[in-house]
Amino acid sequence: MSLKGKVAIVTGAGSGIGRAIAVRLARDEAAIAVLDLNGDGAAETVKLITDAGGKAMALVADCANEKAIKEAATKIRAEWGPITILVNNAGIATFVPYMDISEEVWDRTIAINLKGPHLFCREVIPDMLAAGWGRIINITSSSVQSGSVAQAHYVSSKGGLLGLTKALALEYAPTGITVNMVPPGFIDTPMLRGAPIDAEAFAKTLPMKRIGQPEDIAAACAYLASEEANYMTGQTISTNGGRYMGSA
Ligand code: NAP
Repeated sequence: MSLKGKVAIVTGAGSGIGRAIAVRLARDEAAIAVLDLNGDGAAETVKLITDAGGKAMALVADCANEKAIKEAATKIRAEWGPITILVNNAGIATFVPYMDISEEVWDRTIAINLKGPHLFCREVIPDMLAAGWGRIINITSSSVQSGSVAQAHYVSSKGGLLGLTKALALEYAPTGITVNMVPPGFIDTPMLRGAPIDAEAFAKTLPMKRIGQPEDIAAACAYLASEEANYMTGQTISTNGGRYMGSA
């Protein structure tokens, strides 16, 4: 599934799932803008890619900040040209009982998990329209499909991203741009290991009885980014070990 000549942004690519997506799309020959708040993590991902012969650049930016997004996109275009693959992966997840969620926590969660993807979409859709081709992949969460205790703010942000995915999929369906989502469930990353849950014990309750790997999500993204997925938009690839089998 060669993406040779394509330019991709992967947000939150300095860690976990985003890193695996960046490495995988680079293996498929896309040039990857590795964007993260964490500069050391982004540099590490770029090294993994370039050591394997791929093309990548690190960009430190807050994906909730419109000015930072515009500056990053301008830099990418100047180096490599139009951006036609966007993976909105950066996210934060905290656990707070519903009545204790502060306005600040609510707003920051929505800003990073929902407003950020919206700002990135608006930044790159003109490039995609000009190319007559584009791939937007939003990393949502299986918690949107199941609910999650003490995560009303997080689930709401990811539910909003589900809505954005479907709305943009419909609006841009005639243009060659596809917009799809991957809701991960229980993937082995710093986010999961930092959560106040016993991940190993919970994994035993999953149909597949194990935690997933970031590469499992990356494989779904590689398909959605590819030419082979060109008749697929507004869809969900639930990569969750069988945790949730409905569609959303
Ligand atoms: P992770 O290991 O914490 O990686 C997330 C990365 O995003 C980190 O490098 C983080 O930087 C970065 N980031 C956070 N806020 C940012 C911002 N404002 N601007 C730019 N970068 C930012 O988490 P992960 O598990 O790989 O999660 C990736 C995505 O999958 C998230 O959207 C998450 O909600 C979703 N997801 C994960 C799971 C799972 O089981 N792991 C399940 C469902 C959904 P810092 O380290 O500096 O914060």
